[in-house]
Amino acid sequence: MIYDNGPMLEKKKHGKYSFWSNMLYHLQNLFRWEPGIFWLSILWPVAAFIGNFAGNLLPSVIVEGLTQGWRMETALLRILLLVIVMLIGNTTCYVASNLVSLGNNTYRTHYARPFAQKKMRVDYDILESEQFQNNANAAYTAIFHGRGLTSLIEILPDVFYCAMPLLFYGVLLARVRWWIPLLALVSSVISMGLLKFARGKHSQSYPVQEAISKRLSYLTETSMEPAGGKDIRMYHMADWLLKKYEDSLNQMNREYAKVHNWYTLTGTGQVLVDLVRNGLIYGYLLMIAAAGEISLSEFVLYFGLLNSFSGYFTYGSGQALFLGVCSNVLSSMREFFEAKEHRNEGENLPLEEVERWIDGGLTLELRNVSFTYPGQEKPVISHINLTIKLGEKLALIGLNGAGKTTLVKLLCGFYQPTEGEILVNGLPLEKIERRQYYSLLSVLFQDYTILPGTVEENIASTYHPDKARMERALSESDFGTVLSKLSHKEESFLVKEVYDDAVDFSGGEKQRLLLARALYKDAKLLILDEPTAALDPIAENEIYLKYGELGEGKTSVFISHRLSSTRFCARIILLENGRIAEEGTHESLMEAGGRYAELFEMQSRYYREQAREEKRRRMMGD
Ligand code: ADP
Repeated sequence: MIYDNGPMLEKKKHGKYSFWSNMLYHLQNLFRWEPGIFWLSILWPVAAFIGNFAGNLLPSVIVEGLTQGWRMETALLRILLLVIVMLIGNTTCYVASNLVSLGNNTYRTHYARPFAQKKMRVDYDILESEQFQNNANAAYTAIFHGRGLTSLIEILPDVFYCAMPLLFYGVLLARVRWWIPLLALVSSVISMGLLKFARGKHSQSYPVQEAISKRLSYLTETSMEPAGGKDIRMYHMADWLLKKYEDSLNQMNREYAKVHNWYTLTGTGQVLVDLVRNGLIYGYLLMIAAAGEISLSEFVLYFGLLNSFSGYFTYGSGQALFLGVCSNVLSSMREFFEAKEHRNEGENLPLEEVERWIDGGLTLELRNVSFTYPGQEKPVISHINLTIKLGEKLALIGLNGAGKTTLVKLLCGFYQPTEGEILVNGLPLEKIERRQYYSLLSVLFQDYTILPGTVEENIASTYHPDKARMERALSESDFGTVLSKLSHKEESFLVKEVYDDAVDFSGGEKQRLLLARALYKDAKLLILDEPTAALDPIAENEIYLKYGELGEGKTSVFISHRLSSTRFCARIILLENGRIAEEGTHESLMEAGGRYAELFEMQSRYYREQAREEKRRRMMGD
């Protein structure tokens, strides 16, 4: 491959761990999880070293035999011995290094479980943070695509494989003349410098190539996909698009040619450097052989050693350079694994207190709460003072972007207020261990998740649901009626992408499933953050009423941008620009004739018109 090891991506050191500490981390893990691979990684370079040295000795032994006039048996025995050592060494190296390569995947999977655990355990705001996401992405590609980790398993023994003969051959050559290995080293360093230079040029061109490639793939996808295909035909875009495509292709070819030329130029330089080095050293060796200072067999031996010496240096140092990239990947991975999981680790509430809350229910109080997203200047939530009383049904309404979802995330403890505080039964939410707090909540988010598994696993979030609780949840949510039509009932699989025979529920049916999930959990605080956004207003209203009915006695917060869905709530809070704009019952707010009344009228008119339009279309048979 002309581009050798490719561009020097990620050549900068980043992360807080040093190169050596990363190598040690990797070796410790390898030794702990896969001791077999660890020892094989040492065995194959040693076997290769012995086999190769025997190979290097062989020609000189033959020459020695010929020049010294050994007896046939003696010569054959020595040659046979060397051939056996060479064969054993090379075969062991081949088998062991293949086993190491095979073990690669097993080694990587040891990181997979802690990876998944970490992603699911960290506090939500940590999960969302850019730093954590970047490290998680690096860890993901390392673990699941082998980037960095796969190379490490193979390259580290490779470096060892080169270092051993370099040291040994260096000493042997230095015994002839100290400057011989030095000259070989200097020439190899120049060769490496040339390669590094070409790779630097390759790196510079890489972002340009990537940009062109992105453009090319976008153009290809746009012109090939049915969505873009309509416009292309309608507006006769084909010629124009093709020209654009060709321009990008030509630009890409020019970039490739540029990189290719650099590699060719530096490659020629490397050949010249090798030529000078070999000319000098071989010439000198020939000279001293002619003068009788070294024998012919020694000349043959040194000739071979020198050749190997340069080869090992060029290959080994190329591999060692690549270890820097692996070290960066390990750094990101370690930062990911070692990231703090919780803000308030270790501050568990006494169990009796939690039980008292589970029995008694929850009161929430927001005291002058404000919140600004990291990196933003304007607060999304501003100075909110609000008490959500025990057993109360509260509606939180507002147009899109008013800050409702952000407020839900604050109530859930996913975010920490940037000002003010939230109290749960009088205790600052910050002080409560998150997992304990979550056990008290049932929250339905806009972007809810249905996971690959059975219906009952999705409802109970476990492999072994409590049958009585399940039955109650299914009957109260009316989801049981949906399931009764399925042959496998609650054991039907969900998510078509994973299970071929999975069932696919409609939007309304999925809402029933989520209702059953909330009922099964039977938590003391219920929050609905518009999980019904994809349903029509009437269906949303039905579901909300059902939750209202079933959540009797529980503290419940109903969020919607459709004002009609929450009119049954005893208290309605209208949120505008992150502030409480109005507050009251539906009737009192309508009577006041303020913003709520205005929005309600506007939405009712819109929905009425939509309903009329729908009816008209149905009558026209559209
Ligand atoms: P609502 O639920 O009422 O539609 P949101 O709470 O989702 O409102 O959003 C309120 C405002 O906060 C919007 O202007 C939105 O763009 C902004 N916002 C939401 N999430 C983020 C985020 N992660 N980073 C920065 N701004 C955000």
